[in-house]
Amino acid sequence: MSTWTLGDITITKITELESIGNTELMLPQATPEAVRRLPWLYPHFATEQGLLRTSIHSFVVMTPTRRIIADTGLGNGKQGRPVPAWNGLDGRYLHDLTETASPPEAIDIVLCTHLHVDHAGWDTRMVNGTWVPTFPNARHLFARTEFAHAQEAGGQGTSELFADSVSPLIEAGLIDLVATDEQITPEVRLVPTLGHTPGHTSVLLESRGEHALITGDFIHHPVQFTHPEWVSGGDHDPVQAVETRRSMLDELARTRALLIGTHFSGPTAGHVAPTGDGGYELES
Ligand SMILES: [Zn+2]
Repeated sequence: MSTWTLGDITITKITELESIGNTELMLPQATPEAVRRLPWLYPHFATEQGLLRTSIHSFVVMTPTRRIIADTGLGNGKQGRPVPAWNGLDGRYLHDLTETASPPEAIDIVLCTHLHVDHAGWDTRMVNGTWVPTFPNARHLFARTEFAHAQEAGGQGTSELFADSVSPLIEAGLIDLVATDEQITPEVRLVPTLGHTPGHTSVLLESRGEHALITGDFIHHPVQFTHPEWVSGGDHDPVQAVETRRSMLDELARTRALLIGTHFSGPTAGHVAPTGDGGYELES
């Protein structure tokens, strides 16, 4: 388990699934050969063979007044997902969430950086043959533009995600559609980081003068500190995705805010450090 403290806020990582390699969809340019040229990625973010380590996890953000969960992974028992290993999971996520951070009933707010299948799956769970909200007492916030696009576009398992993980929330009246720069609490604000999806948001945390940013998928892997031009197979608008990544890395290097990676393995968080040649590394 990893926990970070930021002023009056604590952030706890709940890991659902860690994997090595299998990057065809995520980052097709990250061949083992290219990754091996970046020794700083070893051992936390890549293997000696040059295979990328990745993770699917949630962050529970405890503010003085609210319990928030940012992204909810894949979910157990889901089907029709684009990656075979993501179907029919039977993992310990809910147990780990309850043990290390909060019982699901006590979560007040569920944030979703974007509506891909690895970010909203635990919004529901199967009870007696029916998908029911996992966080029955939480408002589930989605950026309005993201919700509209995902609902219309489908693809990459998004239609299936809507059917089993979003529709039950609609029926229960648990959804609020918000702006991409919505202020959620005094300490928590959405930040538009468009490109990976049309309404993609990151989550900015601020307390007692300290700042952190939960990335979502504007950056998938620390290898993109060195190669921000490497795009994900899942990027909706690759040109905009690269622009967003470059400008966010510049800003994070300037502000020294803690970057908390939504798919980063190992230490998961760190600071954006310039390497002197115009590039960056993750200082974890
Ligand atoms: Zn993702």
